[in-house]
Amino acid sequence: MSQHDYLDELIPAFTPLLAIKEASRCLLCHDAPCSQSCPAQTDPGKFIRSIYFRNFKGAAETIRENNALGAVCARVCPTEKLCQRGCSRSGIDTPIDIARLQRFVTDFEQRTNMQIYQPGRKDKGKVAIIGAGPAGLQASVTLCNLGYDVTLFEKEVQPGGWLRHGIPEFRLPQSVLDTEIARIVEMGVNLQCGCEVGKNITLAQLKSEHQAVLLTVGLSEGSSLPLFNDANTVEIAVDFLQRARGNGGKIAVPQSALVIGGGDVAMDVASTLKILGCSSVTCVAREELAEFPASVKEFTTTQALGVSIIDGFTPTAVTGNTVTFKHVRLPGELTLTAEHIILAVGQHAQLDAFTDIQVQRNTVDTHHYQTADPALFAAGDIVQGDKTVVYAVKTGKEAAQAIHHYLEEA
Ligand SMILES: Cc1cc2nc3c(=O)[nH]c(=O)nc-3n(C[C@H](O)[C@H](O)[C@H](O)COP(=O)(O)OP(=O)(O)OC[C@H]3O[C@@H](n4cnc5c(N)ncnc54)[C@H](O)[C@@H]3O)c2cc1C
Ligand code: SF4
Repeated sequence: MSQHDYLDELIPAFTPLLAIKEASRCLLCHDAPCSQSCPAQTDPGKFIRSIYFRNFKGAAETIRENNALGAVCARVCPTEKLCQRGCSRSGIDTPIDIARLQRFVTDFEQRTNMQIYQPGRKDKGKVAIIGAGPAGLQASVTLCNLGYDVTLFEKEVQPGGWLRHGIPEFRLPQSVLDTEIARIVEMGVNLQCGCEVGKNITLAQLKSEHQAVLLTVGLSEGSSLPLFNDANTVEIAVDFLQRARGNGGKIAVPQSALVIGGGDVAMDVASTLKILGCSSVTCVAREELAEFPASVKEFTTTQALGVSIIDGFTPTAVTGNTVTFKHVRLPGELTLTAEHIILAVGQHAQLDAFTDIQVQRNTVDTHHYQTADPALFAAGDIVQGDKTVVYAVKTGKEAAQAIHHYLEEA
């Protein structure tokens, strides 16, 4: 594959006729188990019905009422664990391809320049949000719709969090993210990029100038393993992805690479390496196949690209470019050598600027998104729950509603 392919989406879009055909497979269940299985309540049961009746505008309105990142979720949601898991059609043949229908509708919305969101009134008070990842972006929309004057503070030059700097272009084109964010800015959300809270402005300052503050700083640092502390041939997965995405895929790739990890991030690293021309990529995961953390979509795409995936092995020693692994259950041992080693073993939060906040095992302590400081709320990856975009959307929305209730009662 050429480097140009890095910029193309791997999964093709539905045409209108194919979308209607797919929607016509829906059994129109009374209780819509697919809708109940979507964490963000994007309501696929309702928008699929609209597609079936050729009402694409109605379908787009349903998605946007519930999910400000509908076009992003359509591309990155692990649907087999969420909405599609609830699909009754699975009992007959295969579940409805909900994500692809959602993508069809949001692409249609963009192509026809629909203006579903309207500018907010801004008469309910001021709220600051720290971090413009999916949780912060969704919270800003919900608060704006409720009438608040919202400012989003983002430390990077561009907003989006891991949607911008982590998930590769072939799964989530930057143009899709840009369109989602442009829509949010048009509503009147004040976006201040290049402003790190704790460095350029303090939390105390934000609290004095706003009625409430929402913390959505995510897990912004790639983690390592103590075993690899002195290994200088090792790169952290999110650093590699950031490097590849930042350069539009124009980076030097090794001839052989070893990726350690079995989640979506590991699959993204392995697929990106393959697409960019690395001939031999091996991915070794501690989890066994039955409990593999990566989504089915990611796992199958990575395998189809020719990556060797080995499950159930954990690293025990590293010498230069050689890593020794032992099997988690069986007596087996494995030794692999590669030009480049990449560690994809998770991310953690960087909360040095927020010393008063109580943190336990990488998550901020909250009660209904409210921290011990009643005017300070938290959402997204830094609160308890799944570490996915759709969960960040859900928690961003719910935290915004919690802020609204708090300010209404104040
Ligand atoms: C490589 C990769 C692939 C992934 N693939 C998927 C996938 O396929 N599907 C899926 O559902 N999920 C996926 N995820 C997980 C998903 O991206 C996260 O769960 C989601 O982005 C979390 O959203 P968030 O808003 O909580 O935080 P983030 O996305 O981490 O956003 C936090 C934002 O806060 C900013 N920030 C941090 N500190 C400060 C500060 N002091 N001041 C101002 N701004 C600050 C950061 O710069 C960042 O923009 C993936 C993650 C990675 C890393
Ligand atoms: S947002 Fe994600 S989980 Fe929810 S219906 Fe859409 S694709 Fe499914």
